[in-house]
Amino acid sequence: RSCAERPGVSPPDPQDISVKKKGQGIVDRLAFYRQDLGALEAAARLRGLTPRRGVDFSSNDYLGLAQSARLRAAIAGALERGVPVGAAGSRLLRGETEDQTAFEAAAAGFFGAEAALGFGGGYVANFAVITTLPQRGDLLLMDALSHASTHEGAQAGRAEVATFRHGDAGHAEDVITTWRRGGGTGAVWIAVESLYSMDGDRAPLDDLMGLADAHGFLMVDEAHATGVFGPGGRGLAHHLEGRDNVVTLHTLGKALGGSGALICGARVLIDFLVNRCRPFIFATAPSPLMAVAGQEALAILQDEPWRQAALQERVALFGAEMGRRLPQVPLSGSQIVPLIVGPDAATMDLAAQVQARGLDVRGIRPPTVPEGTSRLRVSLTLNALEAEVIRLVEVLEELWPDL
Ligand code: PMP
Repeated sequence: RSCAERPGVSPPDPQDISVKKKGQGIVDRLAFYRQDLGALEAAARLRGLTPRRGVDFSSNDYLGLAQSARLRAAIAGALERGVPVGAAGSRLLRGETEDQTAFEAAAAGFFGAEAALGFGGGYVANFAVITTLPQRGDLLLMDALSHASTHEGAQAGRAEVATFRHGDAGHAEDVITTWRRGGGTGAVWIAVESLYSMDGDRAPLDDLMGLADAHGFLMVDEAHATGVFGPGGRGLAHHLEGRDNVVTLHTLGKALGGSGALICGARVLIDFLVNRCRPFIFATAPSPLMAVAGQEALAILQDEPWRQAALQERVALFGAEMGRRLPQVPLSGSQIVPLIVGPDAATMDLAAQVQARGLDVRGIRPPTVPEGTSRLRVSLTLNALEAEVIRLVEVLEELWPDL
């Protein structure tokens, strides 16, 4: 997850791989790629694309909206009334559509922010904000387990970069104090996830807000909390939303069942992004159909609060069954449950055995997670029925002692 280092295994030095052709040294990039993939395979880190099969215990479709009748009907209705499939241009040119504008206004109201701005996805939204808002002379201070998009944005951005120990607001404060003592005078941008994607634990938002109030801004990536936590699914940072120094990211591709993302914050920040954010300015606008889906998803959250309650019941059921059958395995308490195995090969092996029993649980390896913490990432969604949750724990109990 640290993703500061890119592939899971260090790639070979590309300059070492060359072939002689007609007496000249020509760097052979294909040999480089093959060698890198070979090294990943030897280290049990080669990744492939495996289609979905079996019961969903790995998606982020927490509320089961991606396949819901209401989202499908909203899209069908939009097509019927002539909403175009593609935006056909940048937002600043002809890509601006009424559906997108209306969705952003509705979303800002729903989440409690002054304004909202849509992006094609959470990855690009994180990258975009982090490379645009923090300025030279500022400090970007991020939780060490922040998502790859935050790390990439930090590397590409203008601010100085520092990390604090995962979930440790006291350490964040120490880092700021040291930075100020060293002459840092700019704003501090604290970047966290409200619910961590691979650990399912929460950031100490209120403590960090105190630091942000003294030193700058708090940026909260709500990717895995949007729709799931907070009043009516408004996120774990809902009580902070609307402050001048708070920026939130809500993804549409997880609990909201579509794709894309929203940055929510003060109007001046959103206007600055519209004018200065290159990944916003130079990209085709998100599909207006996704704005329609997003707006319908917000309506579903309000009309069908039972979905959040049912998800929490699944989480409680999984916890109770695990407590009964595998009490030695610690649980996160949220819908994201990492079952840490450790070694890569054993993790992928276990995932394959669970999958062979019809349950789609995926193994997660470095660099997505830190070295030595490869895990099954069990994701609880409304796509898995209660009986299937119980079955998963039975299967885990059967396989776990083999480790
Ligand atoms: N932030 C976090 C915490 C995430 O887990 C993800 C998705 N893996 C993203 C951002 C990126 O969002 P998207 O998938 O919409 O690009």
